[in-house]
Amino acid sequence: MAFLRAVIRHSNSRNTGNIYLLHGTKGARNQIYYPLINYCPSALRSSVTNPLNSNVTASINENAPVRDPLDTNFSDPKAAFKSKTTWEVVRAYLVYQMCSSSWLVENNMKLMKLGKAVFGEKLFCQIMKLTFYGHFVAGEDQYKIVPTLQRLQSFGVKPILDYSVEEDISQEEAEQREVDASLSEVEKKEASSGVKAKPDEAAEVLGAPLPQYHVDKNFADRRYKVASARTYFYLNEATCERNVETFQNCLHAVANATYGTGITAIKLTALGRPQLLLQLSEVIMRARNFVTEVMGGRGNVIGQNLSKDDLIKKLKERGIQDTEKFLEKVVVDAQGVIHLFPWSGLIDENFGLSETFRVPSLKEGRMVRLLSQLSQKEEEMFRNMVRRLNTLVRTAEELDVRIMVDAEQTYFQPAISRLTLELMQKYNTEKAIVFNTYQCYLREAYNEVVTDLNQAKRQKFYFGAKLVRGAYIEQERARASALGYPDPINPSYEATSEMYHKTLTECLSRIKTLKDAGDDPKKIAIMVASHNEDTVRFALQKMDEIGISPEDKVICFGQLLGMCDYITFPLGQAGYSAYKYTPYGPVNEVLPYLSRRAMENKGVLKKIEKEKSLLLSEIARRLKSGQIFYRPRGNYRPI
Ligand SMILES: Cc1cc2nc3c(=O)[nH]c(=O)nc-3n(C[C@H](O)[C@H](O)[C@H](O)COP(=O)(O)OP(=O)(O)OC[C@H]3O[C@@H](n4cnc5c(N)ncnc54)[C@H](O)[C@@H]3O)c2cc1C
Repeated sequence: MAFLRAVIRHSNSRNTGNIYLLHGTKGARNQIYYPLINYCPSALRSSVTNPLNSNVTASINENAPVRDPLDTNFSDPKAAFKSKTTWEVVRAYLVYQMCSSSWLVENNMKLMKLGKAVFGEKLFCQIMKLTFYGHFVAGEDQYKIVPTLQRLQSFGVKPILDYSVEEDISQEEAEQREVDASLSEVEKKEASSGVKAKPDEAAEVLGAPLPQYHVDKNFADRRYKVASARTYFYLNEATCERNVETFQNCLHAVANATYGTGITAIKLTALGRPQLLLQLSEVIMRARNFVTEVMGGRGNVIGQNLSKDDLIKKLKERGIQDTEKFLEKVVVDAQGVIHLFPWSGLIDENFGLSETFRVPSLKEGRMVRLLSQLSQKEEEMFRNMVRRLNTLVRTAEELDVRIMVDAEQTYFQPAISRLTLELMQKYNTEKAIVFNTYQCYLREAYNEVVTDLNQAKRQKFYFGAKLVRGAYIEQERARASALGYPDPINPSYEATSEMYHKTLTECLSRIKTLKDAGDDPKKIAIMVASHNEDTVRFALQKMDEIGISPEDKVICFGQLLGMCDYITFPLGQAGYSAYKYTPYGPVNEVLPYLSRRAMENKGVLKKIEKEKSLLLSEIARRLKSGQIFYRPRGNYRPI
C-alpha cells in the first residue's frame, strides 16, 4: 500500500541542514526521494507544497539549485530525457533498435568500413555524427566536447573524461606486440638459446612461478571477449609518452569545463611495459605466499596485526636468524606490521626494483629475490612508468581534478592496485584525488577493499574507490582454465551482486563511523559505477538508512554516455552526484570504441528494452503535448 513517509534529516554541516522527503511504497523500489538542500524552515514553508506532483521542482529558495524528486523505479521518461532534444530521443531509439539486431552488431566493424568506402570519408563521418557517434561520443577533441559537457552540467551531471581513440590492429599484431612486451630480457634470451640462465631463487622458497603472471600467446590479445573496456598494446616508450600527453589533455579539458568537479580515467597499461606489471604482480602474490608460509593464514600481512617482534619470533621459529636487513625495510606502525616492503618507495622514482624485493629463504636462511633480475634498461622503463604516473597525478592535483585508475585483468591487478594505493598515500592527504577500481566479480574483492581501507586508515590518507562488477569475465575464466590456476571470478552472477553489495555496505558503514566520530566522512569516497538499477537502488537505500546525504559528497554514481540515461539524469537532477563516462576523439579513430558499445548493448537486451520503451513514451508524450521542438535548458547544478 502506498504511503507517504517524511524523513527529515539534518546533515552534519554546521550552518545548513539537509532534509529529505521520501515518498512511495515500502522498500527500495518505487520510492520517490526529495533531496532538498540548504534547509531553512521559512524557505521550506514556501516551497514544499505537493510532493505527489512529479513536476514539483523542489527548489526552496531563489539561490538554491534546482532539485527534482527522484523516482527510484527509474521509469519516468520525462526526467530521463529532459536533457535531450526530440531528435536526440528519436536517434537514441534508432541506435538501440540497431543494437538489438544480432546481425548488425556482429558485422558492425565490417559495415562501418564498408560505409566509409561507399560514402567517402567526409560523408561517412557526417552519418556517424548523426547516428552512433553522436549518441555515444561527446565530440572530436577537448574543444568540441565543451557543449556536451556544458549540457551535462546544466542537468546536474559531471563527466569522467576518456580520450577513446583505439588502435584498430589485427589479432596477430596484438598477440605479437603483447608477447614481445611481456617477456623480460632474461626470458627472451632463454627462449632464443633454450638454456635456462639462472634458477629462479624464489621458486626454491615458495614453489614454482605463478602461471597467471606470465604471458600466454593464446590470451595475448587482451581484447578477447571484452566489450566494455578498451585495450592498450605496448609498442614502445614513445607511445607511452604520447599517452601521458593525451591523459594530460583530458585533465586540462576536465578542469576547464567542469570547474574541478570532473574526473579523468586512466589505464596503467597505457603507461608502461606490461612485463613490469606482470612481474610486480607476481612479487606481490609471492610476498603474500611468504606471509602465509611464515605466519599461517592467508593474504596481506596488514590483516595479521602482527608486531615486528612477533614477526622476528616467527622467523626465528622457522630457523632464520640473520634478518636484520630484511626487517629494516618492513613498514610498521603502533598496531603492527603494515607491509613487508617499503612500497611507498615504489612510486619514488629512484626505487631499485629487483634489489628491494628480497625475503629470507625458509630453507637456507639467505635472502632470495622475489623478482627475477631486471636489466638496467628494464629498471629504467619501470622508473619511466612511475614518473608518468607521478606527472599525471601531480597535474590532477594542480588542476584540482580527480584521476581514476581503471581496473584491468587479474594478472596486472595486484601491481595496478599497489601502485594506485601508494599514489593515494602520497597525494590523497587532504582529499581523494586518486581513485582505485575494485572489480566485484572477483572472489577476493571484499577482502581487497577491506585491506586497502585498513591501510588508508592506518596511514591516514583519503581512500577513493570506484566499484564495478568487472569487464573481463569470459577472458579471465577461459585463461584460468587453460593455464590451470583457480578461477578468480565469483561462481555466479548472484554471488557477484552479493559481493558488490557487501563491499559497498562495508564502505558506507565506515563512512558512517567517521561521521559519528565527528571525523571527516570524505576520508572514504565511493563511486557506484554500474548500469544495474538494483545496485543503484541498493546504494540509495543504504545511504538513506545510514544517514548519508548527497551533500556529504562521499557517494557518487557513474554510467557510460549514451547508456542508461534513465538512471544518470534523474540522479543528477535530484541532487545526487552523478557522472557520465564521457568518451571523445575523432570519428575514424573511435570506431573500435563504437563497435564495443554495440556489442555491449547487445549483451544487455533487458536494459535496452527498458530504455527503448521509455524513449518511445517520451516521443509520444512530446508529440501529444506539442513539444517536438523542445529545447533542453537545464538549471541544475551538480553537487
Ligand atoms: C563508469 C564505469 C567505469 C567502469 N570502469 C571499469 C573498470 O575500471 N574496470 C572494469 O573491469 N570494468 C569497468 N566498468 C565496466 C563494468 O565492470 C561492467 O562490465 C559493466 O558496467 C556491467 O556491469 P553493471 O554493474 O553495469 O551491470 P549488470 O548488468 O548488473 O552486470 C552485467 C555484467 O555482470 C557480469 N558478471 C559479473 N559476475 C558474473 C558472474 N559471476 N557470472 C555471470 N556474469 C557476471 C556479466 O559479465 C555482465 O557483463 C566500468 C563501468 C562503468 C559504468
